[in-house]
Amino acid sequence: MKEKNHTRPPLESLACVNLDCDLYGQKGGHNLKIRKVYGRDNIRYLRCRGCQQEFSERKNTALWNSKIPEAKAVSVAKHLAEG
Ligand SMILES: [Zn+2]
Repeated sequence: MKEKNHTRPPLESLACVNLDCDLYGQKGGHNLKIRKVYGRDNIRYLRCRGCQQEFSERKNTALWNSKIPEAKAVSVAKHLAEG
């Protein structure tokens, strides 16, 4: 099965995933540099200019995608608990 490529987020929408980094979560496209592209899906491997840490864009998007609904779920649960 072949995945479509049109869902790939632009580099500007990605940010460093290192919590200790000054550039953590700061999107903008200049913080990250593409190191290489790998795999069937052409996953980009990125390096942060701030901390020099390398990670795949898949890790990055998975992180952001999972963070939003989770935070929302927590706040909803809190509301229910406070009644
Ligand atoms: Zn960084």
